[in-house]
Amino acid sequence: MKASTCATCGGTEFGVKLQSINDSKYEFAFIQCAGCGVPVGIFEEKHVGHTLEGIIGGLRQMNERIERIEKMTAAIGRMLEGRR
Ligand SMILES: [Zn+2]
Repeated sequence: MKASTCATCGGTEFGVKLQSINDSKYEFAFIQCAGCGVPVGIFEEKHVGHTLEGIIGGLRQMNERIERIEKMTAAIGRMLEGRR
């Protein structure tokens, strides 16, 4: 596959620069040509995929805690049944 080329200066190196945009509460990351600074792509600084990974990790931890609580509750139930 060919390397991406800046349409303005022909540069082939790019970088990321965080940038605020007027009237937006989110910060964005601009993918810019390293030679002339022309933006060639923009994505949210707090990328939605990264945010989702955090949420999924939190849900996994919560699920593990619920499973431990269920096992403990069942064990307590069995102990109470044994006392009758
Ligand atoms: Zn350029």
